[in-house]
Amino acid sequence: MQLQLQTWMEVEAYLRSDRGIILPIGSTEQHGPTGLIGTDAICAEVIAKGVGEAAEALVAPTIAVGMAQHHLGFAGSMTLRPSTLIAVLRDLVGSLARHGFDRFYFVNGHGGNIATVTAAFSEIYAERSLLAAGNAPPIKCRLRNWWQNEAVRQLSREFYGDAEGAHATPSEVAVTQFAYPDAIKSAPLDPPVAPWGEFADAADYRRNFPDGRIGSNPGLASPEAGRRLYEAAVGALTKDYLDWVAAE
Ligand SMILES: [Zn+2]
Repeated sequence: MQLQLQTWMEVEAYLRSDRGIILPIGSTEQHGPTGLIGTDAICAEVIAKGVGEAAEALVAPTIAVGMAQHHLGFAGSMTLRPSTLIAVLRDLVGSLARHGFDRFYFVNGHGGNIATVTAAFSEIYAERSLLAAGNAPPIKCRLRNWWQNEAVRQLSREFYGDAEGAHATPSEVAVTQFAYPDAIKSAPLDPPVAPWGEFADAADYRRNFPDGRIGSNPGLASPEAGRRLYEAAVGALTKDYLDWVAAE
């Protein structure tokens, strides 16, 4: 159930029996020669919508731009600086909390968001702990990376082994191929498995990873593998979400 396709009266009615909302958060950044710029936002969005349908929960609009400063050496990449993303998340959670939502379940598509989203949760909690002095109803936030659960990990290992890598992975590219089969790209990948290493800023990243990939071979991706990864992620996250909103 998408928040954007409801009326305010329907949202008010939902809040009489439910209190949770699912927030997809991704990134808009290069994903190597064959990966879409929107890979992380697309994965988070389609999986969050699947969870929303299975759990009969509302899904907020996708936060499609994240913390991706290290990708700015590649055309089309966009970033929010960490302090901006924290401010955005505070305002989005604050807006919905005002209406009575109190469980904010973020489905994340981008590893680079994790530190900043976690810091945003601390800001949100600190605000309430310091200023509200206990008279604001408690809220809880949870971050789940769609690829970090046993079901998805197992499939990724089975399909791709060590060629999964860390950025522009065949798993995430496969999920976008399943979601948007008309946008599947092909390009030479040389070497087939990209190098591993560390990075600091955007110039450093581009120097170390000239075509944008880290440790991966996205040439192995297929829409059918994407469908299975999608179903595994939706299954794992739906159970996690339902258990979480049911708990105190
Ligand atoms: Zn990605």
